[in-house]
Amino acid sequence: MGIEILKNYDLSKLNTFGVKANTKFFVEIKKEDDIKELFVSEVFKNNERLFLGGGSNILFTKDFDGIVISNKLKGIEIIEEGKDSVLIKGMGGEIWHDLVLFAVDKGYWGIENLSLIPGTVGATPVQNIGAYGVEIKDSLERVEAYEIESGEKKVFSNKECEFGYRESIFKNKLKGKYFISSVIFKLNKEESKNTKYRTLQEYIEKNNLTIKSPKDISDIVIEIRKSKLPDPRILGNAGSFFKNVFLEKNKLEELKNSYPNIPSFEEDLPAQTGGIIKIPAGWLIEQCGWKGKRIGNVGVHEKQALVLVNYGGATGEELKDLSDQIISSINDKFGIILTREVNLI
Ligand SMILES: Cc1cc2nc3c(=O)[nH]c(=O)nc-3n(C[C@H](O)[C@H](O)[C@H](O)COP(=O)(O)OP(=O)(O)OC[C@H]3O[C@@H](n4cnc5c(N)ncnc54)[C@H](O)[C@@H]3O)c2cc1C
Repeated sequence: MGIEILKNYDLSKLNTFGVKANTKFFVEIKKEDDIKELFVSEVFKNNERLFLGGGSNILFTKDFDGIVISNKLKGIEIIEEGKDSVLIKGMGGEIWHDLVLFAVDKGYWGIENLSLIPGTVGATPVQNIGAYGVEIKDSLERVEAYEIESGEKKVFSNKECEFGYRESIFKNKLKGKYFISSVIFKLNKEESKNTKYRTLQEYIEKNNLTIKSPKDISDIVIEIRKSKLPDPRILGNAGSFFKNVFLEKNKLEELKNSYPNIPSFEEDLPAQTGGIIKIPAGWLIEQCGWKGKRIGNVGVHEKQALVLVNYGGATGEELKDLSDQIISSINDKFGIILTREVNLI
């Protein structure tokens, strides 16, 4: 069976903020042939397009006047096995956490710190997902994607993805130009744990744990995340709404004159940020009095100042307004302009 393009489709259940938005057209991609069929269709050619995974990094501020393409390509397999490493291919519509569990169950190291991040495999390279001291770029081998213009499948090496902190070529130069169909990861058979991240280290020390397998780390990360982050099924959210801030050292010294307690980290320095010292955006938001604050149907989470939430019935516009207010108050107080991590539509 070929593709079925639906009209005036409700996206409320397809975004983790749970905001109401309709799209003019909607289609699910279940096999690679569907992509080719879609790309030559008139509806696709004549309308604005939006590729959608789990909708966990998107805020719909209005109805979408185009076609939403939902990635339902499924399959996880080991495609190459060497002495020390394996290549695992995940189709773009697979749930990311399922791929993590597939790997940790087999004892492969590399992505266990990225457990429980919502969304699909196909979206992971888009913002180079990261957590607990690890980013997807650390184990990503290549990305397979279909070019809209030509319909051709292209393979991107890790380097060609131009990864940065929550950035990639797919979010910048090639935004909206490629549909990511699968991602290939290179994982280690030999122990290669990364427990340098402070929260992780503290948890391990406090509970006197010994890490023997990637599953040990995955279990800890799951436990920490569950205690800290709201479950979107209960409280609509998209994880961190803002990116952390990277500052030049001298700018930090200047700020320290007025705010001697400003936290800063040198250790989790991502590759290409342009700055040098990381300032947690959550701290800045908290200092401006936003943590736990509620305005109507929207608010800032009480445990995590980086997370904006929908208490029920919020519109995307309300959430965007709240984020604008936060950005402007932080600029007024610190002279720092926060950047949104979430994609506004
Ligand atoms: C509770 C919670 C916790 C989170 N924690 C983290 C975290 O720790 N670290 C982190 O990095 N992120 C985190 N996130 C954000 C989010 O989970 C990730 O960004 C995730 O990779 C988004 O996947 P998705 O499938 O939901 O993408 P979507 O939200 O559907 O899409 C995100 C972007 O990618 C594009 N896109 C999606 N699929 C494709 C494709 N196949 N081809 C081309 N473009 C595509 C979309 O057009 C959009 O621009 C969190 C979110 C939530 C709700």
